[in-house]
Amino acid sequence: MKNLSIEYNDLYFVIASLGRSNLIKDFFTRSPRSQTKLGPRDDRRIIRAISVLLFCAYSSSAQEIWTIKFDPKEPAPGQTLKIELKNAPERATVFARFKNKTYPFYTVKQPSPHKRALVGIAGDCPAGQYPLEIYQRGWLRKRKIWQKEIVVIAKEFPKEVIELKKDKTSLIEEKKGASDTAKIRQRLKKLTSEQLWQGVFDIPTQGRQTSIYGIRRVINNDIPWNFHKGLDLGAPEGTPAYAPGGGHVVLAEPLTLQGNCVLLDHGQGVYSIYMHLSEIGVRPGQLLKKGEFLGKVGSTGIATAAHLHWGIYVNGDAVDPAEWLTRKF
Ligand SMILES: [Zn+2]
Repeated sequence: MKNLSIEYNDLYFVIASLGRSNLIKDFFTRSPRSQTKLGPRDDRRIIRAISVLLFCAYSSSAQEIWTIKFDPKEPAPGQTLKIELKNAPERATVFARFKNKTYPFYTVKQPSPHKRALVGIAGDCPAGQYPLEIYQRGWLRKRKIWQKEIVVIAKEFPKEVIELKKDKTSLIEEKKGASDTAKIRQRLKKLTSEQLWQGVFDIPTQGRQTSIYGIRRVINNDIPWNFHKGLDLGAPEGTPAYAPGGGHVVLAEPLTLQGNCVLLDHGQGVYSIYMHLSEIGVRPGQLLKKGEFLGKVGSTGIATAAHLHWGIYVNGDAVDPAEWLTRKF
C-alpha cells in the first residue's frame, strides 16, 4: 500500500508512491542474518542498502508524488463523482472499487494530461458512508494504494403519478421489455478508453422540461415503477434531436418500452440514451460529433405525449443529465 500521506486539504490528498518498501524488504531478507563481524562484502551490502534507501527517498519525494482530487467531496444520488489522479505515469493501470463495482482510470488530455475515473452515484443510493479503494495493477498482482470513506449525502426526490392506458400498463406488468432492457444493460458494460466528448454537453433538443431525473414514479396510483432515470423534454412530434457531445452510435432500433431508441457511447464509461423517437436518424457504428442529428422527438413506447427521454449512464449507473449541461467532465 502506498503509505505516505504528505499533505491534506479539503479536496486534495497527496500520496507518495512508496511501493518500493517491498524492494527494501526483499533486499534485507537476502542478506545473511547472523553476522558477528563486518567484512568487505558486508560493507558493500551496507553501501547498496543505503543507496537503495536514498534512491527511494529521492524518487518518492521528487518524482512519484501522486495527487488525488475528489469532486464533489460529498456527492448526492444522481451526481457524477470525478476522481482525478495526477502525476501517475501513463503506463500505470489504476482502478477504483466502490460499492462492489470496478471503475477504471482513463487518461484525460485536458487541461493537462492526468488519469481520471468517473463514478455514477445511483439515484436510489441510500445516504451513508461507503469505502472507496484505489488499486494499481502490477505485473503479478494488484496492490491497494489508497482508500477513503465516501459520504453520499441524502437527497429527497419528488413523487409522480403517471396515468397510462391498459394497453401500455400491460406491457410493464407482463415485463414485455425485459429482454430490451437486458440488451441495453449489456451494452453499457462495454467500456472504451477514448474520450469522444469535450467540455459540457449541449441540450439534445429544444423543449420544455416536463420531468426531472430521480422522480419516484407510480403508474395509475398502484404500480410502483423505477425512479426516473433521465430528463424528459416535451416538444412537438418531429422536433429534431442532436448529439449533446461526440459519441459512437451503438444501438439504434425500436424497443418495446423505450420506443425508437438510440444509445451513444461517449467513451470512458459514459453513455447517453434517447427514447420515444418518432424517427431514428442514425445507424449503429456511426461516429457523431456534438450537434449532429440523431432522430426526431416522438411518443413511441411507453409515453403519454411527444417528448424526448434523455438519459446519461456513467459506468452503468443512470445519473442526472442536467449536471452534464453545466459541469465539465
Ligand atoms: Zn423519461
